Amino acid sequence: MVEKVRIREELLKYLLELARSFYPNEFAGFLREKDGIFEEVLIAPAGHFGRTSVFFNAWMLPLDESVRGTVHSHPDSVCLPSRQDLWFFSKFGGVHLILCYPFTPSDVKAFLSSGETVEIEIVP
Ligand SMILES: [Zn+2]
Repeated sequence: MVEKVRIREELLKYLLELARSFYPNEFAGFLREKDGIFEEVLIAPAGHFGRTSVFFNAWMLPLDESVRGTVHSHPDSVCLPSRQDLWFFSKFGGVHLILCYPFTPSDVKAFLSSGETVEIEIVP
């Protein structure tokens, strides 16, 4: 049971930068964990981004065991998972970050695969 999400401060800053630079499009990626802390993002290739949806499920990467979560941005400032997001979360498991416009550190929310919110701990 995941009680909170630990993420490296540097990675969080980078994710917010990515969200801003992709705006008004979405960006999406997978998160790599090391010793219980998310440390790295694997960014989905361009072409899988759309104004309305992100096709994680169409993105066939050889994912290794260190990939324990996903991240994507919501350019519309709604910081909640869409129905499609929830469907994907339930398939993938792990934890899922959503970054919503205007992409400040308080515009980051984390969700379990059940769709419940989970606390984020930023690790310096
Ligand atoms: Zn979404």
